[in-house]
Amino acid sequence: ADWAAAVAAVRGLRPTDKVLLICHVNPDGDALGSMLAFGLGLRRLGVANLQATFPGPPDVPEPFLALPGLDLLVPEAAAEPAPDLVLCFDAASSSRLGGLVNRLTTAGTAVVLDHHASNPGFGTINIVDPDAAATAVVADELLRRLDVPLDAEIAECLYVALATDTGSFRFAMTTPSVHEMAARLLATGISPGDISRRVFDTRPFGAVRLYGDVLGRAKLEPAAAGGRGLVWTYATLDDLARHQQKAYVLEPLIDSVRCAAEADVSLVVKQVGTAEWAVSMRSKGAVDVSRVAVALGGGGHKLAAGFTGRGTVDEVVEAIRAQLG
Ligand code: 5GP
Ligand code: MN
Ligand code: MN
Repeated sequence: ADWAAAVAAVRGLRPTDKVLLICHVNPDGDALGSMLAFGLGLRRLGVANLQATFPGPPDVPEPFLALPGLDLLVPEAAAEPAPDLVLCFDAASSSRLGGLVNRLTTAGTAVVLDHHASNPGFGTINIVDPDAAATAVVADELLRRLDVPLDAEIAECLYVALATDTGSFRFAMTTPSVHEMAARLLATGISPGDISRRVFDTRPFGAVRLYGDVLGRAKLEPAAAGGRGLVWTYATLDDLARHQQKAYVLEPLIDSVRCAAEADVSLVVKQVGTAEWAVSMRSKGAVDVSRVAVALGGGGHKLAAGFTGRGTVDEVVEAIRAQLG
């Protein structure tokens, strides 16, 4: 990891330099939280020409609408075309940056902050720590190396990111240092109860009914994944339209599917276009789903990965079955 180079890139900014923060398409709590925390930190350091953006649909998912620092966000189309410095958060590969991918080359310097083992290091400076539970851990470390004092706004962004990527401190990478970081964040006075209710436990009633439809068609295949079992379901654009829901309400759905005890591997196949599906995959340990995702053009972690598949639902699931063996 190139900590010294990243510190130097920020410290070397001149007053007129333009800084652009970007994160992956369909941003989750870690992407938005780590990006906005860092943006607030740069603002504290006096960086004036500062924008944050993400590719694709510009709506910030409702769970994140109370995040501090949202005023840093500009629409993708309004983002500086040739920034002096670009910082990229939580993107496993440059393909996760949509139309913003060109900023990696138009920018004077591109710093990549991430924690995906499959990240090839697509920036000019790369801080990729596969042992970090969230990109927020990397962002926090860089903010500390830059001597940015932690305040409640930065802490709230980092807490949302950390809580999101650790499944509320339940997943295997919830190390002592994750809890130490959470303790430092909570010491600023932020309210974990309020934050968790807003981010994890609030959704429109239509989403509750939508989950009923989608979970009702889940399938269990005990012989799949080398006999370890596969559980999966899918959601179409029509499902979303029928319940008047936006795509992001489906993000937590995988957590309701993966709890099936009879399967080690779980999938949610989410329609994003006529013959285009965003696939979420989870493993309980024996199967490396990032290997499957990478083989099918995506990426992620050993226990949580994804890719975009083409064709019918059945074709997409069959391609996964073939990779799982
Ligand atoms: P989720 O299922 O929560 O959307 O994603 C799980 C993990 O897989 C995340 O770490 C995410 O970065 C990664 N991931 C999901 N979709 C894609 C994709 O289309 N391409 C790549 N490279 N990674 C993905
Ligand atoms: Mn993410
Ligand atoms: Mn992440």
